Amino acid sequence: MKELFRSLPSVEALLRAARNIFADVPHTVLADACRKFQDTLREEIRTGAVTDPADLDVKIILPRLAHIISDSERPNLRRVINGAGVVVHTNLGRSVLAEEARQAVLLAASGYTNLEFDLETGERGSRTSLVEGLLCELTGAEAAVVVNNNASAVLLLLDTLCKGGEAVLSRGQLVEIGGSFRIPDVMARSGAALREVGTTNRTHLSDYEEALNESTRAVLWVHPSNYRVIGFHSSVPPEELAALAHAHGLPMLEDLGSGSLFDFSAWGLHDEPAVPEVIKAGIDVVTFSGDKVLGGPQAGIIVGKKEYIDRMKKNQLLRALRCDKLTLAALEATLRLYRDPERARKAIPTLRRMTALPAELEARAGELAARLGQTLSGHAECGLKADFSRVGGGAFPEQGMPTTLVCIRPSRITASELRERLLSSDPPLVGRLDRDMFQIDPRTVEEDEYALAESSLKQAFGI
Ligand SMILES: *Cc1c(COP(=O)(O)O)cnc(C)c1O
Repeated sequence: MKELFRSLPSVEALLRAARNIFADVPHTVLADACRKFQDTLREEIRTGAVTDPADLDVKIILPRLAHIISDSERPNLRRVINGAGVVVHTNLGRSVLAEEARQAVLLAASGYTNLEFDLETGERGSRTSLVEGLLCELTGAEAAVVVNNNASAVLLLLDTLCKGGEAVLSRGQLVEIGGSFRIPDVMARSGAALREVGTTNRTHLSDYEEALNESTRAVLWVHPSNYRVIGFHSSVPPEELAALAHAHGLPMLEDLGSGSLFDFSAWGLHDEPAVPEVIKAGIDVVTFSGDKVLGGPQAGIIVGKKEYIDRMKKNQLLRALRCDKLTLAALEATLRLYRDPERARKAIPTLRRMTALPAELEARAGELAARLGQTLSGHAECGLKADFSRVGGGAFPEQGMPTTLVCIRPSRITASELRERLLSSDPPLVGRLDRDMFQIDPRTVEEDEYALAESSLKQAFGI
């Protein structure tokens, strides 16, 4: 063991070797990696993992050290190929931005902007006004304000309109949405008391009527998102509730979650009202996410009657919840596309993927399977299977969208081993696992990513 310790390369020797490969990595980073690597080697000698002094030659161990250093230099937030077929995949960053939105972000990031500067008067302007006009035009609402995400939108809404009083909500809508957003907890934070009415499965108009009192500030409707009550159930439609609220001089508020500005019914996706319909139905304030079905950046969008939105604009909390210029740039560019719905459908990846037709997906799956079959020949077999994709983000939870999956059956490793290896490919490829098959849904992997997916698979198979 003494001889082994004598053969242990010095930190200086490791550093010299590493410097030859990594000319641009800062000295402190390299030195730190070399010191830690030397500690690891020392530990390996102690535990008997290394027995031959020749194994400690710098040339022999350099690849390991190089691997550690390149790992530490790699960005933590990375591009991932989403082969899972969930269009608004929250864990994979929800919506992919349209080219127009990406360009707008680049522009806003590259120079000064008129974020809060009125170019007509040369005086201080307001960042909210950058998208307010477009939001009113596209939703039919009187006014709008945008915050960091929909959770903040609900917080700002309740804090502004219901603090110190009660908001009435059906027990069927006391939901928790992914990432521990719980309606009752958000209400508690806002200082609004929750007045629960009805039961989990059934709530009637009379339940709401009986709960109204002098402390009531609003009637609230929360979209159940990724959860449905089926069987013996009933709820009061928001427009009927709006009439009740208005008869008592109260505002009707609706947290839509995944609000959309596009009519998906021609693509078989019903069950989710678009924001303009909700406004038309007489709801006073509506909140929804910017990065769910809308297909834009993370944002919380609040639209509705001017008297209520104006109060939110004056709330000090808005200063803490506002979104930054990059978000506003992406949101404005995304919204502009909606002025022409067909253009929006083609340009916004979320819409394009949600409206991709089964025949098109089948053709693309065939093309991808043929390509991968050739590349992976001898390592795996590739086939096709009819299945369903999901929208994700809590939208249309009951409705699968027909698709064709590319099924990869590895011959020498298991499918779950393949899945694991694909996570450390560059870029990582996420897909579905079905017994002995790893599957890729072409709905979320378009042609421009085929080469990347192919490269990830080649790395995983060591081709
Ligand atoms: C998703 C969702 C939220 C939270 O929105 P974020 O943009 O993720 O903050 C709130 N309410 C409902 C009904 C939702 O579906």
